[in-house]
Amino acid sequence: MPQLETVSDEELARQREIMAEIARSNEGRRPLAFVDTYGCQQNEADSERIRGMLRLMGYEFTEDEFAADLIVVNTCAVREHAEQRVLGNVGALNHTKKAKPDQKIVLCGCMVQQKHMAERVKKSYPIVDLVFGPHELYRFPELMQTMLGRKKRVFAVRETPGEYVEGLPVERSSPLKAWLTVMYGCNNFCSYCVVPYVRGRERSRRAADVIEEARSLVESGVKDITLLGQNVNSYGHDLDEGHDFAYLIERINAIPGDFVIRFMTSHPKDATERLFRTMADCEKAAKHIHLPFQSGNDEILRAMNRHYTRDGYLRLVDKARELMPGVSLTSDVIVGFPGETDEQFEDTLSLVERVRFDLLFTFIFSPRVGTPAASMPDPFTREQKQARFDRLLELHNEISAQKQAEHVGRVERVLIDGGETGRLTARTGENRLVHVNADKSLIGEFRDVLITDSTTWSLEGKLV
Ligand code: SAM
Ligand code: SF4
Repeated sequence: MPQLETVSDEELARQREIMAEIARSNEGRRPLAFVDTYGCQQNEADSERIRGMLRLMGYEFTEDEFAADLIVVNTCAVREHAEQRVLGNVGALNHTKKAKPDQKIVLCGCMVQQKHMAERVKKSYPIVDLVFGPHELYRFPELMQTMLGRKKRVFAVRETPGEYVEGLPVERSSPLKAWLTVMYGCNNFCSYCVVPYVRGRERSRRAADVIEEARSLVESGVKDITLLGQNVNSYGHDLDEGHDFAYLIERINAIPGDFVIRFMTSHPKDATERLFRTMADCEKAAKHIHLPFQSGNDEILRAMNRHYTRDGYLRLVDKARELMPGVSLTSDVIVGFPGETDEQFEDTLSLVERVRFDLLFTFIFSPRVGTPAASMPDPFTREQKQARFDRLLELHNEISAQKQAEHVGRVERVLIDGGETGRLTARTGENRLVHVNADKSLIGEFRDVLITDSTTWSLEGKLV
């Protein structure tokens, strides 16, 4: 494996100096930036870093594309649909740029890390001024300076296994909830997935850095921390510190304060009894696990390169439920993987019936350039796949409504996290949405509520 490098303190200091220079050049004006984010929580977390850097460059923020001096689109590559949405919306920025010719448009993130997409943007989207891939995030200030200083377009996409970077500034979008990245990249190469190609190899952050960041989040009033990684269960495998992911949960749980610890995503091949026991023992760990199963059929799982079987998955679910009765289980599933037959799809349905997930993210297979699955024979039509998808959704919605209804009459502890007086929003430990009729002054507090009603997607509750 190629040696992974650490970005030096000198390099980060250089980027900070550039941010200060740009801020000085912005003195006396308040340039506005709009940061638009597509895709997963990792992108949300990266956008918070982009905002953190822009703030240090003197920018304020807007959500109005016409008012913005700078538009940063942080893109996703996981499915074609996400890419089409990005390209459609970037095309629409022709109007804003026409109305405001000095406006700068930046595209970053996973979509543009793919060579063919970077080429397409270069050729067909001349309004885009700067393109950079996820590996260049720490160099954003330097790239901004180059873009602002010369009239030519800037393209910075580099093939690399990735680097270790610490200490980028962050502007969090919520005072109550925070993303905390514990590791970057992915080594799993599921045969359908583009993530390992665009995000590089697994790089875990040092445990001390993660724990220190969690401590400072709690001290600043954050009540809900989500630990992020593509496969948090392999946390630490690339370091010589001897710590695993469960250790992080234990140490963060020991930080004084009233808060919830969540995490995503857990790959079933590396989920362990130790992780479940730790979740059960740590009172601040949400009793919720997102455990994507992708398919209920062993042949498809093998073709997906997932390294677990249907039975293995079910044993994990049973173990999690044994150690944490009432645990909330959520998952991802792909319908229409190349060559998936009706019988194989039935195995997915029967797994959903058996597990009865609390929430399910359902996707139709989308071929991704350069992945093995994109060149596998795929004889089934889009219509056939859609019909399966609809059946799956119908089954899950029925289960979900029943599971939601089981909460009516229970008292649940929730974190009240937003909304207006009379209709506040709150989340249970298992991450269920609850509407509560109460005063806005309670936002940020944990309260007990009696669940009075349910729908497929949310619960109604009142304070007890
Ligand atoms: N690392 C996470 C894991 O393994 O569970 C998943 C990250 S991926 C961004 C989120 C989900 O997108 C996957 O779990 C999978 O269900 C779905 N996905 C990934 N590639 C896909 C593709 N080519 N077509 C359809 N769905 C896909
Ligand atoms: Fe993609 Fe698999 Fe890695 Fe998840 S574990 S990001 S699905 S390659």
